[in-house]
Amino acid sequence: MSVRVDLIDRLPTPHGLVRGGVAPDHQKIKSVAAVYDKVAADPRARFFGNVKLGADVSVEELRARYDRIVYAFGCESDKRMGVPGEELPGSRSATEFVGWYNGHPDHQDKSFDLSCEAVAVVGIGNVAMDVTRLLACDPESLAATDISAPALEALRRSRVRTVWLLGRRGPAEAAYSPAEIEEIGELPGADLVVDPAEAVLHEASTPALADPVTRKKVEYVQARAGRAPTKPRQVRLRFLTSPVEVLGEGGRVVGLRIERNRLEPDPRVGVRAVGTGEREVLPVGLVLRSVGYRGVPVAGVPFDEKAGRVAHSEGRVAPGEYVVGWAKRGPSGLIGTNRADSAAVVALLLADLASGRGPVAAEPSPEALPALLAAKGVRPVSLAEWRTLDALERERGRAAGKAREKFVRVADMLAALDSRRA
Ligand code: NAP
Repeated sequence: MSVRVDLIDRLPTPHGLVRGGVAPDHQKIKSVAAVYDKVAADPRARFFGNVKLGADVSVEELRARYDRIVYAFGCESDKRMGVPGEELPGSRSATEFVGWYNGHPDHQDKSFDLSCEAVAVVGIGNVAMDVTRLLACDPESLAATDISAPALEALRRSRVRTVWLLGRRGPAEAAYSPAEIEEIGELPGADLVVDPAEAVLHEASTPALADPVTRKKVEYVQARAGRAPTKPRQVRLRFLTSPVEVLGEGGRVVGLRIERNRLEPDPRVGVRAVGTGEREVLPVGLVLRSVGYRGVPVAGVPFDEKAGRVAHSEGRVAPGEYVVGWAKRGPSGLIGTNRADSAAVVALLLADLASGRGPVAAEPSPEALPALLAAKGVRPVSLAEWRTLDALERERGRAAGKAREKFVRVADMLAALDSRRA
């Protein structure tokens, strides 16, 4: 069987979260992009960047032109804490902060006030670890990475000295990976501060220690607990605390009221947090919620509102339509998880094809999509053009002593391509 694959992305650049999500100080992880580049170089594959599904092209238009569609658009938005004051300008999502420092075009008009002494990060998953590390590290350690130029400048001017990292359950339930918390603990310019009383395990949490990964995480923070800080910055990791109100004054964030939790066994999740009514205020000037991503519905693609992702059954969305990655499972799992998951869905797709199940496109010609885009005045970015952008970014990076200096606005990317063409 011979297939052609067109990859459609709303940005002129491929690589999704590898470019816009993975932290700039994790350059090694970004090298996985080479796998995509190898696949993209196959003559049966084409790239159509700068084409937004649901805006530039509809799902119905795709259905007419492709026999099969795979949705791989991830989870673009974020979950809310659901507390008063969350809408204040200094209360933002980690999603925005990550997009901002990674030069994602959606987040370049945002600014984060780093003139305060203390920031609260709510949630203790790996995204929380990334934003905390970026806030607490020496900005010069990022100077040679692909961090966006405005973010590097802002971090250089940052006055933040304390990052409160707030987990609602205990050390055994922490969502971070062992390597990520250890990285925070080993920052040269910041101490990881843990209250020994909060590092003690609840009896309902102890069965979780049978898992070696959980044991490693617990042992690490327990070994750290109680150490007196000596470095210029501090990451204060708190367990058993939930946000209850973001406090503002004159439109600015001045604090986060938190409530102490106790743990209760819960057959669904092992243990759950329950508020005790005991409250305190952390004086912070910025609150970053890092409580999980959430999918955004795309017109024409069934959406499961409750789960915040595409509605599907084992990856099948509709006859001839499939979903992979975070758009399928929700926002959890590493790059490797998504790769294995995609392979399983592609195996389903191929099995369906072999059994003759599914629709047949009315206009399957390779020229059908380019013709439609031209008629609509949409300017797609090809693989060759992405390679030009890639080379330009690396060149700009070399000049600045960085791995890459990203174009952070779509208009600048297109202008760079057009001036090359001219
Ligand atoms: P996550 O792993 O699901 O963590 C979400 C965190 O938010 C958890 O600590 C959760 O606590 C907490 N939370 C949720 N609702 C809350 C609420 N209402 N109040 C307080 N806390 C709340 O999500 P993520 O950090 O966004 O990461 C998404 C996925 O990307 C994960 O699979 C992660 O491993 C992956 N990732 C990996 C890396 C890396 O490997 N370096 C980097 C970034 C992301 P509970 O546990 O109590 O629910």
